[in-house]
Amino acid sequence: MKVFKFGGASVKDAISVKNVVKVLRAEGYENTLVVISAMGKMTNAFEAIVLSYCNQENDLTKNIQFVKDFHTNIINELFENTTHKIYNEVDNLFNELNTFITTNNNNDYNFIYDQIVGYGELLSTKIISSYLKDVGIENNWLDVRNFIITDSNYRDARVNWTLTQKAMSNNNFNKLSITQGFLGADKHNYTTTLGREGSDFTAAVFAYCLQAKNVTIWKDVEGVLNADPRYFNNTKLLHQISYAEALEMAFYGASVIHPKTIKPLENKNIPLYVRSFYKLNNLGTSVAKGSSLVPEMPCFIVKHKQLFVSISALDFSFMVEYNLSHIFKVLHNYKLKVNLIQNSALNFSICIEDKYGLFENFLNELKQNYNVIYKTNVSLYTVRHATKEAVAKVEEEGKVLLKQATGGTVQLIISK
Ligand code: ADP
Ligand code: ASP
Ligand code: MG
Repeated sequence: MKVFKFGGASVKDAISVKNVVKVLRAEGYENTLVVISAMGKMTNAFEAIVLSYCNQENDLTKNIQFVKDFHTNIINELFENTTHKIYNEVDNLFNELNTFITTNNNNDYNFIYDQIVGYGELLSTKIISSYLKDVGIENNWLDVRNFIITDSNYRDARVNWTLTQKAMSNNNFNKLSITQGFLGADKHNYTTTLGREGSDFTAAVFAYCLQAKNVTIWKDVEGVLNADPRYFNNTKLLHQISYAEALEMAFYGASVIHPKTIKPLENKNIPLYVRSFYKLNNLGTSVAKGSSLVPEMPCFIVKHKQLFVSISALDFSFMVEYNLSHIFKVLHNYKLKVNLIQNSALNFSICIEDKYGLFENFLNELKQNYNVIYKTNVSLYTVRHATKEAVAKVEEEGKVLLKQATGGTVQLIISK
């Protein structure tokens, strides 16, 4: 079997959904499992619902209406029959959401987040599965929560591979199956999410457990490029990259592939193709066993909205294991992600990402024992297969606060 993944950009409106039909017809859909994300930027819109619900703001109703209207407009364009059963199915999902909102008494933000945000994927897959049937593409809509079993670490749930494998082995996937990316369920049957952009990983989990022949993720770019085209000019397509190279690129922040996607595929030697959903004749990028990078060239990765923090001891003592282990413990407690580290005798510098808005708390705790200076909104550039010219190009982007080279990889923290 093969696994396809369509992300938000590939199902952002009615025309894009019609294009999914083109892709399936051109590529064939026998024995295929299709993983689909929420439409367009709907996950962000659901996040706004979560926020207004948790903060008891007045715009909760408005935010829900926005999401409703967005999907209704797409349905109106896709289905001519105004009494089509999709209208009922979508209503049912919004009723379920409403029931959760009016009856929930759990205050855990992360739990609430997962129960609400997951509707993005449930809506998109219901609509697309129904539309495919209408145009003659028979398929089974599957609730991914019956297959991907996770722990209860809401918003960043970890897959329980044994239970997931077992759940998948009990099912027959020999037709075309349509299911949700990003979601799972914990042992209490609550919805969990695998982390933002996690649908690529969902595709890999299915491929791993079902021993798929290959996985294709359909993107709005030609494949994996040597840099993010939103931030760099003259980007070039990489035709082939090894699993190790893809893993490194994703780890450093090349957001075209979710970092967790690669390892399960590598373990079973399943090729991953990254292809354009517009240019079906193009082969895109193949991530597979073989050459590290074809063609060989410097690759650029940038992470914006980083914090650059310098920490030194109040008593001028050296920054050694004792202090460092304490600092890491505090970082861990506030779920801050460390993207770069540099240590000198008196100074420990880190580049961090504050995904959960806990930096202030971290700062307050750390200031009790250390001098802390920091700069917000800096960018972390990583150049892989670096050359002098490539690094010089990045240095032109702003003031270099720190530069670090490890093998062929050079990282720079830049303030604009
Ligand atoms: P989707 O969520 O629809 O699957 P994403 O938006 O997550 O797709 O990923 C595609 C986007 O990734 C591209 O539009 C591009 O801006 C960005 N991107 C970042 N780094 C790269 C890269 N090295 N090569 C190609 N695209 C990249
Ligand atoms: N819809 C989710 C998100 O936007 C998951 C995904 O698209 O991969 O993060
Ligand atoms: Mg995405």
